Amino acid sequence: MITNKPSPEEFKNLSIQYLVQSVDLLLKTEMALAVHGDWETNDELDEYWETRQGILGNSLIMLFLSIENYFKHEICKIDSLLLIAGEPSKWGLSTENKDFEDLYIHQFDDLLVIFQEITSKEIEPTVKGQLDNLRKKRNKYTHGLHRDILGPAYIVDLIAIFLTKLWGTEWVKDFKSVMLTEPLYGLSNEEEEQMQLLYYFKFFEKYLSQKKFRKLIGMPDSGRRYHCPYCTNCSIESGMIVEANYALLEPNQPDSEELECWLCESFAEIERRDCISAGCLGNVIFPKDSHYEHTSNCCLTCSLVQSD
Ligand SMILES: [Zn+2]
Ligand SMILES: [Zn+2]
Repeated sequence: MITNKPSPEEFKNLSIQYLVQSVDLLLKTEMALAVHGDWETNDELDEYWETRQGILGNSLIMLFLSIENYFKHEICKIDSLLLIAGEPSKWGLSTENKDFEDLYIHQFDDLLVIFQEITSKEIEPTVKGQLDNLRKKRNKYTHGLHRDILGPAYIVDLIAIFLTKLWGTEWVKDFKSVMLTEPLYGLSNEEEEQMQLLYYFKFFEKYLSQKKFRKLIGMPDSGRRYHCPYCTNCSIESGMIVEANYALLEPNQPDSEELECWLCESFAEIERRDCISAGCLGNVIFPKDSHYEHTSNCCLTCSLVQSD
């Protein structure tokens, strides 16, 4: 018998951990490269990246491992035996038990075929082409020389394709479960998670078109974005300088009095009145609220405190 068969969750856990590492390698390097702390708007970091191909290679390898383990996870949900390569008569079970770990697992291309067959999910030809390109680049980094210059945009684009076309928007929840958060003064654990996720959102947004970014996080592709009063309050409280503007009117109508935030997943009641700033066309105001001192009575477009 084959012993120690894996559970699908083991592969899922690996997949998400590799994904976080793939992103972290890019984000943390970018934060260090932008010496003025303006990493999310600084688009002049390309030349610094050119000399850091090793970091990009590692990130690419982590992404490849993440996708590979995602396929294993999905296949393992049906049966872990489907992962084992080679003819069953050669699995070496005739005399004794065999540990699953000691058997060979199918390689990437084969996993891709099995995944499609058992899930009846046809992967779009362009996505297949991009995965194949990733596999080739990964092989070069692992076994030989990769001489083409790589930039973060290539990897972020692939991450977005992987998460949008294969994983689905629940990746955010899975991602949160393994990301490492930094302790931030004055914030609860949950708020610290949201602030960490805010950095990831900003990073993805920097390298993706607005359409692709919204699709990635599951946000409708139309509707003006506003600051979330809760996330913005946390961001200011913890001394961050990153805009938490991932809230949309719910429903997206001119007279709506509620915002939904894609970062903290909360709803906030708002008032519809014109902002007092002459230069601001905003008319979405967070009411006075002593719990949220940094956003109380503020315009959620330009952040200006409204007069009493
Ligand atoms: Zn929020
Ligand atoms: Zn305003």
